Amino acid sequence: MSRIDALPPLREVIARHDLGARKALGQNFLLDLNLTRRIARAAGDLSGVTVVEVGPGPGGLTRALLDTGAARVVAVERDLRFIAALDDLVEAAEGRLELVRADALEVDAVALAPEPRAVVANLPYNVATPLLIGWLKRIEAFRSLTLMFQKEVADRLAAAPGGKDYGRLSVIAQWAAEVQPMFNLPAQAFTPPPKVMSTVVQLLPRREREPAEWSAMEAVTAAAFGQRRKMLRQSLKSLGDAEALAAAAGLDPTARAEVVPVAGYAALARAWRAGSREDPGEHATQRGTKRR
Ligand code: SAM
Repeated sequence: MSRIDALPPLREVIARHDLGARKALGQNFLLDLNLTRRIARAAGDLSGVTVVEVGPGPGGLTRALLDTGAARVVAVERDLRFIAALDDLVEAAEGRLELVRADALEVDAVALAPEPRAVVANLPYNVATPLLIGWLKRIEAFRSLTLMFQKEVADRLAAAPGGKDYGRLSVIAQWAAEVQPMFNLPAQAFTPPPKVMSTVVQLLPRREREPAEWSAMEAVTAAAFGQRRKMLRQSLKSLGDAEALAAAAGLDPTARAEVVPVAGYAALARAWRAGSREDPGEHATQRGTKRR
């Protein structure tokens, strides 16, 4: 039996350290080690990889990650109570577990871990989307992201064009990564149970991504989905000549945001960027700064 397997059950760790769950920190714990092992397995082969975990809590998923071939686990936790409660696990991990007390929104996961690196986490749902967006912006720095989300967010991440779940998050995530929902977990799997069903999703960096700039993708998806019921010739007006923009991207100006595929948004982002690089002179003239 490994030193980690010999540790007391998670319920005992929670009772001993009086670790009542704090709702504001999205604390819904997984205390069944079979489930945490299943999540670690969903991450694939972690041999030699440094895993960044957000929110180890009482350490169930952390134990499972240490049981893989991962080189090290760097666990970022905001709640100081768990840093103390994880002392025994740090010791049992014999130098393979580092705890970082910080708000994960404020730390750079890339700087925390050498290559190859991956993120595996049962995320605090209140900050799950901004954390994901931050990692997606640098997805090529990660081998994979294997993350537990509330199912509704997972559905949006994986949604295909044409349905109500397809939106900005779907486009940005699928543009940057291959998005693979792995399995669902019912609310009762967690202590305390959240109000919603959960889904583990794996995101792998796309080898060949449609060329476009991140900020342009954000701008065109914000405009299009900001008025998702309207046709592009209306919804893209905030970006300039909407008809011309749609045409330059090879899109039907009467189409609505929810039917445009990811490649269509990348084409829009390129067309808008090309146009907006020409614009400043024109605008300057209109404002009178370049009057001749
Ligand atoms: N990994 C544990 C498990 O599976 O049982 C706990 C998961 S719980 C859903 C989320 C964890 O993230 C909690 O331990 C919570 O304290 C921590 N957390 C919440 N917000 C955080 C933040 N901004 N930065 C780092 N950790 C955070």
